[in-house]
Amino acid sequence: MRLAADMHPPCTLRRITDHVWWFTPESRRDRPSLAVVVGEKESLLLDVGASPAHLGECLAAVAAAGLRPPARAVLSHAHWDHVFGIEAFVGAVVAQRLTAAQLERMRTWDYSDAGLPALVADGREIAFTAEYIPRELTDAQRRALKLRLPDAVFEETWTADLGGVAVHAHHVGGDHAADAVVIHVPGDGLLFLGDCLCDDLWAPVRRYTRGRFLPLLTQLEKLGPAIMIEGHNPELFTGKELIALTALVRDAYSTLDRLGSGPRPELRVDLTTRHAAGLVDDTLPPILAGLDQT
Ligand SMILES: [Zn+2]
Repeated sequence: MRLAADMHPPCTLRRITDHVWWFTPESRRDRPSLAVVVGEKESLLLDVGASPAHLGECLAAVAAAGLRPPARAVLSHAHWDHVFGIEAFVGAVVAQRLTAAQLERMRTWDYSDAGLPALVADGREIAFTAEYIPRELTDAQRRALKLRLPDAVFEETWTADLGGVAVHAHHVGGDHAADAVVIHVPGDGLLFLGDCLCDDLWAPVRRYTRGRFLPLLTQLEKLGPAIMIEGHNPELFTGKELIALTALVRDAYSTLDRLGSGPRPELRVDLTTRHAAGLVDDTLPPILAGLDQT
């Protein structure tokens, strides 16, 4: 038991900047990061969690820390683990237009044990999500699950003034989810990324595409964050790491252009002369898998 607990540390609330508290992710159930931005007038929740239980634990930790309960929530994207807590959130929920449209579809889907195989069979969910969903919610809980629709919808940008703290949500898209939104707290140099930097898990082979990955990195780079919360990373992601990733990805595409099509056995070695080998090994396979895809 001890070993299992250590392998999957529970979600905990940590203050990471002047105005931002991070509710850390948990890998056993694939619970993503949540966060609360606290202003003088209002607290704002970032993502609503993988279940009413996950949301409840976050809000209990917020209360125990003596923080004002969040009156509104913003969603990063419509994947189950970021939205299944929605019915338990009593405040207003804000979402990008595509996120709202996907929630409207998902609320008609059958997520019960009997229904999950059909969702995987036709690609609405994938084996990965079908494995984790039953760890977070029982069959009975999924049968009773109601996905309510967001209260407010935006297209490109949504802004809130929480009282001395400005928050901007930006639609960035990318390979992981077309509806992906990042939430920026510029005064704290903080960016909540959701899963936007992840590759496309829904593709037959995990991939990045040049047409989505490069514009995403350019948008994130422009925001110039010092510190970032990623959906499923138990460590914070730093501005320096974003700069290193962006440099590698740009270099990888221009090196690929230079080498032309066909086998490129020297590519990895070439890139590791200029970039950390671990970063190259994590990033290059999905770049190659998506090279000819749009
Ligand atoms: Zn996701």
